[in-house]
Amino acid sequence: MEGDSALSATQTPAPAPATCPTCHQGLRPEWYFCPNCGTNIHPAPLSTTLTTQLIIYAHSVILPMFLFFSISKWKGYTYFKSEDPVAKQIGTVAVVLFVLSTLVTFWLAYVWTQDAIQSSIDSINADMSI
Ligand SMILES: [Zn+2]
Repeated sequence: MEGDSALSATQTPAPAPATCPTCHQGLRPEWYFCPNCGTNIHPAPLSTTLTTQLIIYAHSVILPMFLFFSISKWKGYTYFKSEDPVAKQIGTVAVVLFVLSTLVTFWLAYVWTQDAIQSSIDSINADMSI
């Protein structure tokens, strides 16, 4: 009974080719680079050293705290809630600037993503036309 063999499939990386696609040198599955011509057969795994882990964990802890302290130190919202009309006006300008800055950030992220997609399409087309 070999019923549910698909369920036992785990997240294993794609097997490396048995021969180098560039120079047809025979390869072992554990190799990341062809020893003959240096072709990258499959990407090296992400570093899992203790130092790398500590840096990643430190960022995970610090980044939300940094955002929290930035927002809690931001006077704009205090001014915006103020009864004083002049202070409220300052707060309104601060909120508008905050919203515009957020929109610009998203827009820049969008443009950057489109640029990255376009440049990879261009390089693929350039490879094809050779
Ligand atoms: Zn090779």
